[in-house]
Amino acid sequence: MSSRQLFACPHCNAKMKVTASKLEASLFRVSYFQCSNVFCGFTARGEFAITHQVSPSNMPNPDVNLDVFRKTA
Ligand SMILES: [Zn+2]
Repeated sequence: MSSRQLFACPHCNAKMKVTASKLEASLFRVSYFQCSNVFCGFTARGEFAITHQVSPSNMPNPDVNLDVFRKTA
């Protein structure tokens, strides 16, 4: 997991740290977040999903069927 900040705490705006992250399926990850501000103490669960193909793979997996993303406007 990169150290790039994914979210700020929605309550106090401090950095949220990823405390655990599990790949549940090839296109779906669940992560748990903890606010770095000890006086806040907020923790949360989040979900990340690959939802669309922007450009195709040169090594396509036949089990992966994603809608093609089309940029609007
Ligand atoms: Zn917080």
